Amino acid sequence: MNAENQTDETQPQAEIPPEQLSLRSRFKFKCHKGVSCFTDCCRGIDIMLTPYDILTMRKKLDVDSEKFLAIFTTPQLLEKADMPVVTLKLLDDERRSCPFVQDKEGCVIYEDRPTTCRYYPLGVGSLSYSGEQGEKDEFFFMIKEAHCKGFDETDEWTVGEWREDQGVDLRDEVNEGWLDLMVRKKSLPPSMQLSEQAKQMFFMVCYNLDKFKRFVFESSFLTRYKIPEERVAQIKEDDVKLLQFGFEWLKTTFFHTGEEMFNPKEKSGDTTAAEE
Ligand code: SF4
Ligand code: SF4
Repeated sequence: MNAENQTDETQPQAEIPPEQLSLRSRFKFKCHKGVSCFTDCCRGIDIMLTPYDILTMRKKLDVDSEKFLAIFTTPQLLEKADMPVVTLKLLDDERRSCPFVQDKEGCVIYEDRPTTCRYYPLGVGSLSYSGEQGEKDEFFFMIKEAHCKGFDETDEWTVGEWREDQGVDLRDEVNEGWLDLMVRKKSLPPSMQLSEQAKQMFFMVCYNLDKFKRFVFESSFLTRYKIPEERVAQIKEDDVKLLQFGFEWLKTTFFHTGEEMFNPKEKSGDTTAAEE
């Protein structure tokens, strides 16, 4: 799943038809350099970046997460979930172009393009969290924009085939913990809010992974929990594992559910995030 193509406040609502699609739904579409609208959809758009997008994009661009955030993103608040997110910062040109689009070549980071760009022309419907079993409502919808000529092509896909072809399955798998946090937060009663400190922790783990890594390995973090040694070695070597470890830590800290290893050895009083 992805959150950036969700309904709510992140999509151009007027152009989204209400029809809900399943993984088996079929559609005709092809995007290629020969279409007259080539790269039109890479201008004037809001692209929410997932934690995994940031991880792969900053590696491709060979910058650390702090620099990536400063140069390429704008912080936003996802209003209904009241959670911080980041969107891709567009250029200040006439068409508000994506910084990675070239007129003739298209996307210069194509192999590492964000999840939203991969899903397009599909979006993912809003989710609701219904208890600890984590049953989530998920559906897809078509973002049928008038300028997009890709719908005139004859290549036919199911939604499932499109997801596989565009490589979103892996991305959704890695981002699942992030999405779970947002869905859980959205499901809290309005009187239950996360503290500002908690939102900053969420931002650090999800978007500024280099900072989170320093926090884990250069503070008292590892002395406060019973993290198995092999897990420590794993997260030191593998940023995807570190990211997923971070999601689990936030889940336990915010919602008091999750892996036992995150139960503090002693109550230090500095990790409680939810406030009523
Ligand atoms: S508008 Fe549609 S067909 Fe044109 S470049 Fe974008 S996705 Fe491809
Ligand atoms: S990242 Fe690539 S595919 Fe996505 S909007 Fe920018 S240029 Fe287009």
